[in-house]
Amino acid sequence: MAEATALLGKPIADRIRSRILADRPPDLRPCLAVVVASDDAAVARYAAAKQRIADALGLSFRVETVDPAGGQAALDDRVAALSADPGVHGILLELPLAAGLDVETAIRRLDPLKDVDGLTPHNLGLIAAGREADALLPATPDACIRLAETVADLRGSRAVVVGRGRAVGRALAPMLVNRDATVTVCHSRTRDLAAAVAAADIVFVAAGRPGLVTGAMVRPGQVVVDAGISVIDGRVVGDVDAGSVRPVAAALTPVPGGVGPLTATLIFANLLRAVHLQRLAGRLR
Ligand code: NAP
Repeated sequence: MAEATALLGKPIADRIRSRILADRPPDLRPCLAVVVASDDAAVARYAAAKQRIADALGLSFRVETVDPAGGQAALDDRVAALSADPGVHGILLELPLAAGLDVETAIRRLDPLKDVDGLTPHNLGLIAAGREADALLPATPDACIRLAETVADLRGSRAVVVGRGRAVGRALAPMLVNRDATVTVCHSRTRDLAAAVAAADIVFVAAGRPGLVTGAMVRPGQVVVDAGISVIDGRVVGDVDAGSVRPVAAALTPVPGGVGPLTATLIFANLLRAVHLQRLAGRLR
């Protein structure tokens, strides 16, 4: 039986990086500030990976370490200071934050025009209003859509989004509506997940539950995009049981190698967009 086509993030990321290199503003070096408020080694690794991309793209990069012992106020104050700093054009909160720190509270202090991961209610509201052209789009949902679009036409398609979390599902669903898909959103209270998945043409999974979507749920011809990331015994896995889904679906994003590599690059595409939006707002010359 034919295996699902592997939808890889790297080729798309490489094209976007070439475009970023060509589109860098001639008169200023855009600066991304990444806030690390966690002792988790994985969070430090995510920041280091972005540093390498910034270096390759000739963009300015700052790691802003916040001691979790300083509590929510220290984090909020740092986000506010970066929002006010004219030398910083984009701000990213590297997640997860240390236990006891709340991302929703911190982003109240985040300038929406510097919100390069589209997390603020301002940017989510623009998306929900169908005004993506004015918004900074969250990178992971954007990556999911770009991968699906390489093999499927979203317009008129039936799409299911499994997960309504803040990083992925919450924004992905309205972004799919904006692209004329017919969208079903599933979550932990959904009664019949298998039926919802089977009814879709394109399946997006972002629940953080390894093995949630299995080969028994999918149909031949479906496109499956797996945004989930979990670490089991030191191995990074998604939410899709790839071993049983691959022989059935038409296309599947591998984990690792699918959504992840594209997400980090899209943060830098958003950094250039942030500079553009700040110029339009009269904040930069
Ligand atoms: P989240 O806040 O962790 O929420 C998980 C969502 O999944 C919730 O909506 C939850 O439902 C739903 N869910 C949990 N168990 C379920 C089940 N058995 N059936 C159906 N739905 C279920 O979500 P997130 O922050 O958006 O992250 C989602 C995943 O994406 C995580 O694995 C995260 O690590 C990953 N992620 C990947 C990238 C990347 O670059 N690839 C970036 C960011 C995040 P309720 O709402 O009912 O609780």
